[in-house]
Amino acid sequence: MDLFGHLDSYDYGEVHFKLDKATGLRTIVAIHDTRMGPALGGCRFIHYESDEAAVIDALRLARGMTYKAALAGLPHGGGKSVIVRPATHFDRVALFRAFGKFIDDLRGHYITAEDSGTGLEDMEVIRSVTKWVTGVDPSHGGSGDPSPFTALGVRRGIEACVEHQLGKDKLQGVHVALQGVGHVGYHLCKELHASGARLTVADVDPLKAERAQREFGAKVVPLDAIFDVDCDVFAPCALGSALNDDTIPRLKARIVAGAANNQLAASRNGDDLHARGILYAPDYAINAGGLINVAQEVVGYDEAAARDKTLKIHTTIAEIVQRSEKLKAPTYKVADMLVEERLAAARPR
Ligand code: NAD
Repeated sequence: MDLFGHLDSYDYGEVHFKLDKATGLRTIVAIHDTRMGPALGGCRFIHYESDEAAVIDALRLARGMTYKAALAGLPHGGGKSVIVRPATHFDRVALFRAFGKFIDDLRGHYITAEDSGTGLEDMEVIRSVTKWVTGVDPSHGGSGDPSPFTALGVRRGIEACVEHQLGKDKLQGVHVALQGVGHVGYHLCKELHASGARLTVADVDPLKAERAQREFGAKVVPLDAIFDVDCDVFAPCALGSALNDDTIPRLKARIVAGAANNQLAASRNGDDLHARGILYAPDYAINAGGLINVAQEVVGYDEAAARDKTLKIHTTIAEIVQRSEKLKAPTYKVADMLVEERLAAARPR
């Protein structure tokens, strides 16, 4: 593995490794950038095909966190950790305790949180050995489920796009097609329905789609048909790469704004959307509500403060859209530019 080549290509930074033979812990903590503050980002606990795949996942995800935190105006850099899921039997509590001790050794340089494969119980174990953890139980000052905050931010982002692209200052009657109505998608439906929007949804889990139909009057369509819906806003809220060479030509919406991470299959798909005159709200700009909520936990959780900061996603999206129009540049490039300006203006690495 060309380790330093990978570090160089992702513009690092520092990476910490730990192998704890007693528990089988094999972990990588990637700290991409700390110019804005200590690195904050979740801990992923999944199976990896190779050590290289685990390293690349950590590097890629931590870099994304730098961009998300900087654009949200948070006093945090980007970090992410991965724990390679042991192939054989393991003691989960011992594993996460060993991980917590390793995090503690980093003395607040990296603050961890939940991610794929980890949950509240794991964060509670980590909390027993270090204070550098978020996503703990609300009874211990935790911020709880981030999804309602993510959905609130996405709704505000959609409003900013609708104002610009459709000239409407309300969502009343605006038709939104949601791909995925899981944790965030469900709360987004609730937000949009309360604002008078019309909903069409698709989900691989029919029970989730039916719930949106029952509670919010959403029309349910087959999975693949969601890309063809004649709507105002297409909101990807499922997995990544929803916007690709096959789906973009089919979209009828004039706005794409949703919660999913890594919505563009490739950067050039952001150019394709721009060329088609479709306004794309960059994913890491519009879906930062959950991160804003968890970052509030670092300084003492205050739900009202987290909510106020999340509402400002409207301003961020409006700024990106205005700059995009002025520079005639795709929004995803403008968002990156804004982050890079902020990082350059911050203290040196
Ligand atoms: P989730 O797993 O609860 O929901 C995803 C939903 O998408 C599920 O209901 C699943 O059945 C459905 N789905 C999967 N593939 C689909 C397909 N091809 N077509 C239609 N539906 C499909 O996850 P979530 O927490 O709601 O997160 C959704 C997205 O938002 C993810 O990309 C996640 O990374 C991103 N995100 C979530 C948060 C958060 O606060 N949870 C924050 C930022 C970003």
